[in-house]
Amino acid sequence: MAKKWNMVIDLALCNDCNCCFMADKDEFTGNDWAPFSVAQPWEGARWLEIERKERGQFPQIQVVHKPGICMHCDAAPCVDASAGAIYKREDGIVIIDPVKAKGNEALVDSCPYGAISWNADAGVAQKCTGCAHLVDQGWTQPRCSQACPTGAMQFVMAEDAEMAARVAADGLEVSKPELGTTPRVYYKNMYRWTKVFVAGSAYFADNGDCAEGCEVTISKDGAAVATAVTNNYGDFLVDKLEPGAEYTVAIQAAGYKPVERKAAPTAASLTLPAVALEKA
Ligand code: SF4
Ligand code: SF4
Repeated sequence: MAKKWNMVIDLALCNDCNCCFMADKDEFTGNDWAPFSVAQPWEGARWLEIERKERGQFPQIQVVHKPGICMHCDAAPCVDASAGAIYKREDGIVIIDPVKAKGNEALVDSCPYGAISWNADAGVAQKCTGCAHLVDQGWTQPRCSQACPTGAMQFVMAEDAEMAARVAADGLEVSKPELGTTPRVYYKNMYRWTKVFVAGSAYFADNGDCAEGCEVTISKDGAAVATAVTNNYGDFLVDKLEPGAEYTVAIQAAGYKPVERKAAPTAASLTLPAVALEKA
């Protein structure tokens, strides 16, 4: 069984530095890499796109960055729609043949991930080539993952069984699995994009001190689903909750009256107002 192209992107490590994007531009703008691609335009083409999302509200906010490229799907709708102009290589890379695809702008709409763009100058649909021209020369990484300073992007050449084991061990997920396209790009810590948190803070009303060490219990339909302990600022944050669900947040500290709050986080997550704990 041959090793194949895979990419693992860790959403906990991406800091939106854009080194990957610039490396992609450097490699493909102004350069033809026959037979895989003609030069990418300077403007309007983003073969690597970084989406951004804020989570929570002041004073507890996170920003998550989600780099996306062509997923090099094993069940690629673009291949099916292309009448042979788009093909999958044995190593898993999906290529738009710039000669066979010339003039076919409809190919842009064949990708449900929006990974294909139209090069008006060359009259051809284009996307990430997986740096096939470099992989074929023995490069061990495409330009994007090579440029990533945090290790958020990791290129993995592996047999499918080996990759499946890694997916299971590291809890990797794919983007939009409901599409059934079997992507070869995997995400680690995907919950930062798909799930939400409830955060808050507590302080002691009698002395104004931050309420460190409180027990926080998050319940849904009467059953506890997560717990946390407030830190030295009295803050807590419980992640991996479901957007749109209704939770009860119970905060307890020895010698103080317990407090409950309702929390219905939207897709933007939820930071609750600070809670004052009264003496029991
Ligand atoms: S992400 Fe889009 S362009 Fe890439 S292989 Fe899948 S369907 Fe094709
Ligand atoms: S280079 Fe790495 S850390 Fe920087 S934006 Fe790209 S994936 Fe994120």
